[in-house]
Amino acid sequence: MLNQTKSFFIFVQFILTIIMIGAPPMGSNGWAQSPSQWKIHDMNRPHPPAITPGKNELPAPPPAEALILFDGKDLSQWSDMKGGPAKWKVENGYMEIVKGSGDIQTKTGFGDVQLHIEWAVPTPERDKGQDQGNSGVYLMGLYEVQVLDSYQSPTYADGQAAAIYGQYPPLVNACLPPGEWQSYDIIFRRPRFDNNGKLLQPVRMTVLHNGILVQDNVALWGPTNWLEYDPYKAHPDKLPMSLQDHGSPVRFRNIWLRELPEPVALIPAADLAGKVITLSPIVLDRYVGQYEVSPGRNFNIKREGDKLLANFYGERWFEIVAHSEREFSMKRSAVDLKFDLDSDGRPKSFVFHIGGRQEVAKKVGIR
Ligand code: MG
Repeated sequence: MLNQTKSFFIFVQFILTIIMIGAPPMGSNGWAQSPSQWKIHDMNRPHPPAITPGKNELPAPPPAEALILFDGKDLSQWSDMKGGPAKWKVENGYMEIVKGSGDIQTKTGFGDVQLHIEWAVPTPERDKGQDQGNSGVYLMGLYEVQVLDSYQSPTYADGQAAAIYGQYPPLVNACLPPGEWQSYDIIFRRPRFDNNGKLLQPVRMTVLHNGILVQDNVALWGPTNWLEYDPYKAHPDKLPMSLQDHGSPVRFRNIWLRELPEPVALIPAADLAGKVITLSPIVLDRYVGQYEVSPGRNFNIKREGDKLLANFYGERWFEIVAHSEREFSMKRSAVDLKFDLDSDGRPKSFVFHIGGRQEVAKKVGIR
């Protein structure tokens, strides 16, 4: 009996473990758990392997449609965090952090963006860990991609360069030596909240560091912070981007972005087909046969149960659905057929549209 009870508890424990492992990370109040088994800033968390990027062609020319946030001349697109003038130094085509002058932010807000930014950390500071060329790119002022001199210089993995600070170490360490210009290309999707402020979708970020993928569409657990990440709180769809003054004279240049359109919503194929009518097998059989487009080139139509199938340019058969006795189309593809019927409702030919091309196929027989 005792053994049975013990077995039962082991079984319950096993089930609970399975449930916990398999549980989705989002609780009813948002994302409340750690994104990994590691505590924040754990020095034992494995460091990603170093990788040597190929030759970096920087500055990377922006596309003509890009919004230029800094072209090396002035800080006209930037302010301090209170809206006053940004006090960072501008010289030789870059801006440089003036220690103690505070973070700076863009004068306008952004949501979903593709951002390009180039940075260089100073050379004299070595072996200072988090004080060695520390800055940060804060999307929406809340979600930091760490800037740090992490070239042959370990700090905690979730705080090294290209980490989503305190959450995700980069996949690899793609750092160049201090003093060299490096680039981040960041694809940022803002969080989505419902009207009651409930989180619908967390932030998603993809980051390339010196052209190397270092963050692969990761889901953030909330705004990034030192020693903690905060839970999501509903905020506007657009907020200024900011750059961090962490006391180190880090340089930035060539900052540009493209605002991204809303992600494409998936629409069920059934909704794309439009209004479909059902034709009886007797009526469907009228369409069955061979249709000639040009000598030696034929389309065929056959019936399988209550479905009509057509092979247009090869051996594969595609279902076509009826919108009327004259009009048919493919369910998922922009392909339509318009039949010319005789007085008995039998097809003589059809006009066929695919990829901007129109062809006429004349019925030549029953296949
Ligand atoms: Mg930082």
